[in-house]
Amino acid sequence: MKDIDIYNLASQVLGDITHDLNKSRYAELGGELTITWCTEKKFGAYASSLDEAGKPPKHCVTMYYELARQVWRDAEELCKFLRSIPQDSGVDKLYDFYGDRVKLPKCFNDEELVNNIFVAAITWVYFHEIGHLMQEHGVIRDEYWEGHSGAVKIADVYDFEASNHKRLVGREALVSHVTELAADFEATTLYVFELLRHINDPDFVEGEARTEVLSGLIYLMVCGLSLLFFRFNGSQPILPTEVIEGSHPNPLIRLELNVPQIFESLDMIGKFLDHGVDRKQLVWLCGKAALSATLYWSMTKTEKHEFDDRFLLKGLLSNSVVLQYLQPIVACWDEILPRVKEVRHFGSPLGLMTFTDSFKERIAGVITWGDGPEGKSTTS
Ligand SMILES: [Zn+2]
Repeated sequence: MKDIDIYNLASQVLGDITHDLNKSRYAELGGELTITWCTEKKFGAYASSLDEAGKPPKHCVTMYYELARQVWRDAEELCKFLRSIPQDSGVDKLYDFYGDRVKLPKCFNDEELVNNIFVAAITWVYFHEIGHLMQEHGVIRDEYWEGHSGAVKIADVYDFEASNHKRLVGREALVSHVTELAADFEATTLYVFELLRHINDPDFVEGEARTEVLSGLIYLMVCGLSLLFFRFNGSQPILPTEVIEGSHPNPLIRLELNVPQIFESLDMIGKFLDHGVDRKQLVWLCGKAALSATLYWSMTKTEKHEFDDRFLLKGLLSNSVVLQYLQPIVACWDEILPRVKEVRHFGSPLGLMTFTDSFKERIAGVITWGDGPEGKSTTS
């Protein structure tokens, strides 16, 4: 596929979503969502809200063609890499944990595989930006940052190009991290609903094939999301720290939070709408996809070209540093959530970030010194 064809496909996919959202959401609010494309060579996207108090929402998402191009190339390379793993090699045997060594869903041809990873990843990025806009994060940040002006009329929420701006610290960094995670949460929820809508369309797939196709799409979605966060991370794994600084959370922690959200929400929705994939299958699919993406990234993009499990999902609760990082995040979200609910324009209640009580207890209970449960693992 030529670069120009990738750009055309990306504008068509996201143009269709924009059209649907205008029809289903923005029209009833009297507002409008627009998308623009930027040719600058940046791996990113950002959202702008031109809202005036009391007026309908005027939202714009700007996407960079470079992001679409890179996501497509990564998806192509990932599929090529997975096909090239020698049979019975050590790497091949890692898949035995998941019951079989199938690395790419068999219900799609080569082009469909790349296409599905690509569509999932760029759609998720687009939904992340829409997540910022749904909750008016420009307004939220302005109100909850210290010394806010209180008079912001035009709120720009910049995203992946945040490094151009001054490095955030303290309260500003905290609110920024919280709103990023909240936008991720909206994005993943929107994506899961979109996936289920798609899979229940009889023109797309019918009858017995449905469960197999859904499983394949979930797998490719997790591959796409992993590739995205590995790109944001770069070739060296950024190790977690409990310090909150800069505009965005550690990409690997974001991945750790989003993947369980995919299987948890599909598991929960599956109790009302039978999609045929049970909890165990969901967890395995997501874990296997994350393994595939980690193998690809660490064996082709890092200096040593060998499997590096620092890129691998380990489960949030297993890392005391991550738990410490999440303590102020959870408290800050509790503080701003009532305001977010007030300004939120639309969306299912499931799109509002939640931390379960047991998760909160686990975070609050982390003791990293002396004989506390995490006392010995803080150096890892
Ligand atoms: Zn963002």
